[in-house]
Amino acid sequence: MTPEAKAASVYRGRFAPSPTGPLHFGSLIAATASYLDAHAHNGTWLVRMEDVDSSRNIAGAADHILATLDAFGFEWSGEVLWQSTRSEAYGAELDQLKNAGLAYGCACSRKEIADSNADPALDGGLVYPGTCRAGIPQSRSPRAWRLRVGSEAVVFEDRLQGNVSQQLGRDSGDFVLLRADGLFAYQLAVAVDDFYQGISHVVRGADLLASTPRQIWLQHCLSYPTPSYAHLPVVCNAVGEKLSKQTLAPAIKAGSAAASLVDALRFLGQAAPLELRRARVADVWDWAFENWQFLAIPRCPTIPLA
Ligand code: GLU
Repeated sequence: MTPEAKAASVYRGRFAPSPTGPLHFGSLIAATASYLDAHAHNGTWLVRMEDVDSSRNIAGAADHILATLDAFGFEWSGEVLWQSTRSEAYGAELDQLKNAGLAYGCACSRKEIADSNADPALDGGLVYPGTCRAGIPQSRSPRAWRLRVGSEAVVFEDRLQGNVSQQLGRDSGDFVLLRADGLFAYQLAVAVDDFYQGISHVVRGADLLASTPRQIWLQHCLSYPTPSYAHLPVVCNAVGEKLSKQTLAPAIKAGSAAASLVDALRFLGQAAPLELRRARVADVWDWAFENWQFLAIPRCPTIPLA
């Protein structure tokens, strides 16, 4: 069955951690919600290790994440897909975009873009001003490859965050597919892999909401179907920063798996009884499979941890 056929006929979800540190409470929320949503649809749940950005990978983190998922009782289907093994596939899709005139070489350095009065982009970077869109001067060579974006809005209905619309020309500009350091960009890897794995439903943190229109644009350019998206509220700290490995979120511990799972369920709006924190992990999952209510998940992008 081709990935397209799979996506059309069955629920296939995934959890896609980056091995930049141990699993923390924020990633547990994404893992739990994507797992339970797949379970509620009698679907398949896959794990993909997003180690494409080798400059950020921490030695041992991937194995630690998989061991933690296992200790928390998550059961994924098939083998883990490692993005570090997928360069050939990313390269082939990039070639297709180049041949279609959709991807172009860009000679600009970071400093040149910063010096060009570029507008701030939605994801915190800068909107690429389009300097190399019509070609690069003969004296220069491409450093990176970018995808041409269209002028029309990219619109989708998120299952939790509602209607989302971005005008990529204004909100991100032509974005990078192959970076100046030779690594494939996250946006390309995710779009190619979600298609390759036949993902029909993406359930992940709302910190990725601003990336989704770029991924949808890539799906259009590569003639892939667009999955359904649900962006979960993300945990933030007292000053409103997303809880992440960068803000040194504490790792979750296999020894207190049941308690952490109950906390994650309650964060997701589920009425998991507090006594379950002291139960066996399998009992927490039994409760969750029985009582999971997608509609109880708070429909907001961030929630401070109580
Ligand atoms: N690897 C990303 C992260 O750990 C998640 C990407 C995704 O779910 O699409 O934040």
